[in-house]
Amino acid sequence: MQQSQLACDACGAELVPNAAYCERCGTRTRRARRLVRLAIRVEILFFLGVVGLVIAFTWIYAGQR
Ligand SMILES: [Zn+2]
Repeated sequence: MQQSQLACDACGAELVPNAAYCERCGTRTRRARRLVRLAIRVEILFFLGVVGLVIAFTWIYAGQR
């Protein structure tokens, strides 16, 4: 488990524990950036899964005719 960030990377202001944004300058914290990257990855995986399902069903449907 990574230690939570204590100060803003951009302005050095003290951060509230588990904050997503700096209260002074609005910069995203490292934790928030990591969560955003994770969310994008999950979204891409979900999209690929849906595309894969559509292709699989199209293939099954085409094979039944
Ligand atoms: Zn800041």
